[in-house]
Amino acid sequence: MLFPWNNTYVRLPQRFFARTNPVPVAEPCLIHLNESLATELGLDPDLLASPAGLAALSGNKLPENTEPISLAYAGHQFGHFVPQLGDGRAILLGEVIDRSGNRRDIQLKGAGRTPWSRGGDGRAALGPVLREYLLSEAMAALGIPTTRALAAVTTGETVFRETRLPGAIFTRVAASHVRVGTFQFFAARQDHEAVRALADYVIARHYPACAEAPNPYLALLEMVIRRQAELIAQWMLVGFIHGVMNTDNMAISGETIDYGPCAFMDHYNPSQVYSYIDSQGRYSYANQPPIARWNLTRLAETLLPLLADTEPAAIEAAQALLAQFQPHFEAAWYAGLARKLGLLQKQPGDLELAQELLDLMTSHRLDFTGTFRSLCTESGPAELEAWLVRWCHRLTTEDTSPAERQATMRAANPAFIPRNHLVEEVIDAAVNSGDLQPFEDLLAIVTRPYESQPGRERYTLPPEPSQVVRNTFCGT
Ligand code: AMP
Ligand code: MG
Repeated sequence: MLFPWNNTYVRLPQRFFARTNPVPVAEPCLIHLNESLATELGLDPDLLASPAGLAALSGNKLPENTEPISLAYAGHQFGHFVPQLGDGRAILLGEVIDRSGNRRDIQLKGAGRTPWSRGGDGRAALGPVLREYLLSEAMAALGIPTTRALAAVTTGETVFRETRLPGAIFTRVAASHVRVGTFQFFAARQDHEAVRALADYVIARHYPACAEAPNPYLALLEMVIRRQAELIAQWMLVGFIHGVMNTDNMAISGETIDYGPCAFMDHYNPSQVYSYIDSQGRYSYANQPPIARWNLTRLAETLLPLLADTEPAAIEAAQALLAQFQPHFEAAWYAGLARKLGLLQKQPGDLELAQELLDLMTSHRLDFTGTFRSLCTESGPAELEAWLVRWCHRLTTEDTSPAERQATMRAANPAFIPRNHLVEEVIDAAVNSGDLQPFEDLLAIVTRPYESQPGRERYTLPPEPSQVVRNTFCGT
């Protein structure tokens, strides 16, 4: 059996989803199968790579017992509420229980039109599929909660965007696909019963301990706020910019989801934006914490009827929880910065020392990843000379062994990230020359981000001026 389904979402009330079959494609061809993830999920990698597996991963033939659905959700897009979005090009094939006992969704992205497609074609282009593959697997290897890439296939069909592009389908694995926007979908319809059913579902699936709390829904909100605060801190610690933090792109599980025009920044610039549609900088690097809090406030609004007996009491309770976002974020961010700097015993002045480094990196346009990694060998760029003296002095004030410090720093400062110009290079080779080897090479490198990889120095370098990618484009 390809997939030992164990489905729950499809048992929720009918208005939570639409039953939707994938639309077959002309000539599917496997680009890549994530064998270790398949094994982790309890699936058979050989079977998945077989013709029957390819037929399933391309949507050409439904595996046994599959109950495919596309999910309903709404969302605030760039601050504007859209009451109905939904999976316009994604189909949830089903859920499996992985080897650790966790429930995981398996979804085809780009599998054809659904009742939620509006004007879209329901398809995905090869470039964005390769981008999501590389970025999500790099994030997982960095140790950051994220949806995963199980497989990518080309369809043998053309999709039309600004130009004609090869089509592809991405198989995504997620702890679940419930988003802030899923709650908004029902709240906008005053469907309180559905909001409660969804909250109960999420508690059972992701936050079972909340069920024991005096008010499980308050406990749920508190947990989601905490997970998001920690997630955003982890993004920022590796220089990741999500790019489209709309409420439909924020997962209740706390995983990074929906890799569109996202990127890791090269030189440190807090106001960096990648998405060309984000002219206001709403989703810039430094704006990610306040935007996450804004999104969580939208989530809290949907839960108000469940939080207390009266609205004023519910609002007060929600505000108290939302006020915890910033302290949670700061705790995770500062703890992470301390690890990056090898400061293992907290001391007064540490924050200032870290902030001074970031300020120097901004003013000298220093590469974020490369600068931190260089500190692991206590080298560092010339521009930092005075700062390095103070940092080295600070290191002598604790009794951490150099070996322990080095190990901590190497595990907190990646050498390899999927730099934008490298990702674009790979996509260009695949789309314009049909050459997937550069993709394979980059994937192998960025999934071992913390290791020294002799001979791979090129992949650690920031782009030459001519290689700078100014915008990444939407995953549509
Ligand atoms: P995204 O920007 O990928 O988060 O997508 C926002 C919304 O547009 C979601 O409801 C998607 O399902 C939908 N969407 C994006 N691309 C397409 C497409 N090619 N066809 C149909 N729907 C799409
Ligand atoms: Mg989305």
